[in-house]
Amino acid sequence: MILLTATLAEPQHFSLAEKSLLIVLVAASGTLFWRRFGLVLDKILKSKKDAGFSLFPLGRRVRDFVWEVLFQAKVVRQRPLPGVAHAFVFWAFCAFALVTLNHFASGLGVGFLSPDGPIGRYYFYFAAVFALACAAGILGLFVRRFLVRPKWLGQKLSYESGFIALLIFVLMATYLAAFFVADASPAARVLWWAHTLAILIFLPLIPHTKHLHLLLSPVTVFLSRGSFSRIPPLVGDEDFGLVAGTDLTRLVSLQAYSCVECGRCTEHCPAANTGKLLNPKEIILGLRSYLNECGPSSDEPLLGKYNAPEAPFQCTTCGACEFQCPVGIEHLPILVGLRRGAVNTGAWENDYGAKLFLTLERGSNALGMSSAERDRFIEKQALPIFDGTQEYCLWLGCMGAYDPKGREIVADFARILNYLGISYGVLRKEKCTGDAARRLGNDLLFQQLAEANLATMTENKVKKIVSICPHCVRTIQEDWKEYGTPPAIEHHSEFLARFRDKLPKQSNQDKIVYHDPCYLGRYRNVYEEPRAVVALAGELVEAPRNHERSFCCGAGGGLVFLGEETGERVSHVRAAELAATGATTVGTACPFCNSMFRDALAATGEGAPQLMDIAQLTARALPEQNAINPAHPH
Ligand code: SF4
Ligand code: SF4
Repeated sequence: MILLTATLAEPQHFSLAEKSLLIVLVAASGTLFWRRFGLVLDKILKSKKDAGFSLFPLGRRVRDFVWEVLFQAKVVRQRPLPGVAHAFVFWAFCAFALVTLNHFASGLGVGFLSPDGPIGRYYFYFAAVFALACAAGILGLFVRRFLVRPKWLGQKLSYESGFIALLIFVLMATYLAAFFVADASPAARVLWWAHTLAILIFLPLIPHTKHLHLLLSPVTVFLSRGSFSRIPPLVGDEDFGLVAGTDLTRLVSLQAYSCVECGRCTEHCPAANTGKLLNPKEIILGLRSYLNECGPSSDEPLLGKYNAPEAPFQCTTCGACEFQCPVGIEHLPILVGLRRGAVNTGAWENDYGAKLFLTLERGSNALGMSSAERDRFIEKQALPIFDGTQEYCLWLGCMGAYDPKGREIVADFARILNYLGISYGVLRKEKCTGDAARRLGNDLLFQQLAEANLATMTENKVKKIVSICPHCVRTIQEDWKEYGTPPAIEHHSEFLARFRDKLPKQSNQDKIVYHDPCYLGRYRNVYEEPRAVVALAGELVEAPRNHERSFCCGAGGGLVFLGEETGERVSHVRAAELAATGATTVGTACPFCNSMFRDALAATGEGAPQLMDIAQLTARALPEQNAINPAHPH
């Protein structure tokens, strides 16, 4: 109420000396700002152009910008309290853009908003509301950073952040205090100059600190590649991935300078949480240090001094970092890019990796088994062979064709298809989709596998695919696009959810905790379909980390093939969390998760929950012998 009866006080006349001083201070502040900001812009613009980048379609970019930047939706959704505090500060900055312009214009005698005019008066009140919210927000963020001190913000206290918080608080406090003094009073003048000085000190600090994100992150969000974990193509014979500064693209450099060091990526990273060397925040800051010290024209390796060579190879490509990042940094193209660089230049020496690549080059699958084993499995299960007349091609994948538990999942899913009377068939010859090769940075091998499989699809006239493996689904649908047009594909959870009305509902007391696989959840945004299927089989319970915050099983990014982990095992951490829910069953929807949890659940001790894929959960209610698929008898 007091505020609504008060008017913002603005000193009416500034002497020539005051105006001159103001001009000198603005020029000094602007110069200091540009000296650093110009340098950063130069490094970004001198970086390599991004292959395949297009501004269009613009609609998606505008939508992301409005949602993530203007509404601050991602920040608020993922961390509600600090998110709201941050949003208050951001919205106040937007509201203050006009106030600040007018503030300096008034100092030079050309103010355009008057506290006595109808527009100015209401605009100043409007800004005052934001000033109050901003002051409260910055105080809250200060308390969090300096008293609560979440470990993800780093061990070292950032005094620079404290000083900037103080400046922002002074800005808001001086603005609000000006409502309670008279225009002509000395107090109004003191407040005016205090406000001015706070702005002029703040301005050059922006590009010199992590507050550079204030300027860059809206651009980063707008220019992002737009789809989750989009791995850009390599261009020409000389492109080996991210090897040295000359390989850094404009998007990568822009993202490196946009990092606000909030640590959200690290907080959710399974590698960082289990004692590995990999820390996604440090990967980004390592690139920033590289750019600062070496620049984008340098031949100095990116891995070595600035980031540990083994760190990118500890990544499960779970995508939690990229999903969480509030400023649009795309970690996965960077991590895979660094792997590409190391693999293509021969810098990565790993016996398991070398064996995997050799196995994939020589054979058809990542498990290194003879294709005759797959034929025997198909024969034993009497799976129909796809001949172009059936509706679906049932893609087995390496796990479904060779892994004993994966085979059980396929067999049960086939029973469901038979029960539903859906026509399907499996390919006589199927190669690995190339998922592990792609994520480990071996593009040549990935290309060979993708092209061979695409040719098989065309030859067999495949129109629709269904698969039990989210890694296969992702790789076929998104990654193969670089080499052709893959057929439509869906995951069996989506398929089963569509037919849920035709599937038997089970009346038992089974408490089932569903584990969201990274490649189905964060990569494909499929969360509710598998839950709908689980709900047919028992009571669905949630793990503490679920949906988009789900914690990885540790298999992705080819790590399942790379032998022992250092530190704690990711699968054991997740299995303990799932078992602690008290569920009788862990429901999975990915054969890799299933394989990782086999031993991990057993290690949780007596009374460990049983482990079942959603296809197995569904199939257990079917009659023992389903009718042979009527359309295509075996
Ligand atoms: S993708 Fe997952 S494992 Fe890799 S750095 Fe990001 S959070 Fe960590
Ligand atoms: S990369 Fe993104 S999430 Fe990670 S610290 Fe930087 S801004 Fe935060």
